Amino acid sequence: MTTVERVRECLQKIKKENGKINALLEIRPESELLKEAEEIDKKIKRGEAGRLAGKVIVVKANINIHGMNVSCASKVLEDYRAPYDATVVKKIRQEDGLIIGIANMDEFAAGFSGETSAFGPVRNPVNNTLITGGSSSGSAAAVAAGFCDMALGSDTGGSIRNPASICGVVGLKPSYGSVSRYGLIDLSMSLDQIGSLASNVGDVALLLSVIHGRDDKDATSIDCGKLDLKKLNKASGIRVGVLNLEGLGVDEMVKELINKKVEEVSSKNGWKTKDVNIENIDLAVETYYPLVYVEFFSATRRFDGRRYGKKIEDVAGPEVLRRILGGGEITKAEHEGRYYNSAIRVKEFIRAEFSKNFKSVDCIVSPVLPRLPWKIGEKISVEDGYAMDVLTIPSNLAGNCSISVPVGKIDGIPVGIQITCDKFNEEKLLQIAKAFE
Ligand code: GLN
Repeated sequence: MTTVERVRECLQKIKKENGKINALLEIRPESELLKEAEEIDKKIKRGEAGRLAGKVIVVKANINIHGMNVSCASKVLEDYRAPYDATVVKKIRQEDGLIIGIANMDEFAAGFSGETSAFGPVRNPVNNTLITGGSSSGSAAAVAAGFCDMALGSDTGGSIRNPASICGVVGLKPSYGSVSRYGLIDLSMSLDQIGSLASNVGDVALLLSVIHGRDDKDATSIDCGKLDLKKLNKASGIRVGVLNLEGLGVDEMVKELINKKVEEVSSKNGWKTKDVNIENIDLAVETYYPLVYVEFFSATRRFDGRRYGKKIEDVAGPEVLRRILGGGEITKAEHEGRYYNSAIRVKEFIRAEFSKNFKSVDCIVSPVLPRLPWKIGEKISVEDGYAMDVLTIPSNLAGNCSISVPVGKIDGIPVGIQITCDKFNEEKLLQIAKAFE
């Protein structure tokens, strides 16, 4: 299929179904897309095309694309047009990836269900009454609905893996520092990472191989070497750590499905499994939120109604306001940084726990989510919502790389396995993911 044909196919699906699914907030004009696709096809013919030639890509609405509406799905930035390209977008363009549009998301990436966008919830393509998960809800739904081949999302506490699991696609959170955050609008700068989603491990790997690496514009980014895509089928002798889920509130049916899959794949490949315990993992959620509230509060002080968009306190939704109010409270001088500093100490403890365990296992596996998704609009308490990320947040705290791979369905609802590897072991992570796929 040529790029022109592929774009036409995606546009047709978008026209037919985006009205219902609400995965995309902005779609580039058809004439512009077809012109760019023709140019890419010419390059392919001449043998000069980049590694993403022929691929249609969607980008989450918190990543700057020059001239497009980077709204973070918020009224605050509903009229804001990005004045420059994020580094990841520049890299995609250099490799001839075709960006088709901007994906809906939870407002300012503060969410777990895809329901907090100011522009309406995203509906799950697998079952339109269900949530997609979040916050990269539109990115996952766009892949699942066939609106694109690949998508970019961001993951602070699970926002790529969570919707990937619920929508039945693959989603990867790279190690902290693997991918430049230049041009990503912060939720929590010490935890945020941009990563890739697609319908298969190969495409997720391909997009990661384009966007990762050191960028002078992000001082936390690191040169983590080349990703050898030819080695993806080479996972052998893997020592699989099976995470102890005690006390984490994981649904029995989900547990059973994941355990069965781990057994099946390990015995088929001759891999050894071992039970792994991350001490104090049950503190991860309550450690994560003070960090996020404080860093988000700080990052949002620029949205004061003068320089960027509207004043955030005036127009943001309840989840964003909760974090701003909470962050403002925690950072009051009288607390002398007590909450933030305690959270940093637990974060370091959890990181060390992972490090210790990675001496004896190559990866740690668990479900992505503790439970099945709910119906859009169902009332969920803040605590229950935050608990959705009980299994994904630890990897962000430790700075590890993790991936969600679909491994089956319960009552027709997709379920993903989470595989986590030590920092900067993305190549191994993808090899293991491929075996599970
Ligand atoms: N659900 C988590 C939160 O609300 C994670 C969000 C994310 O990863 N962007 O903060």
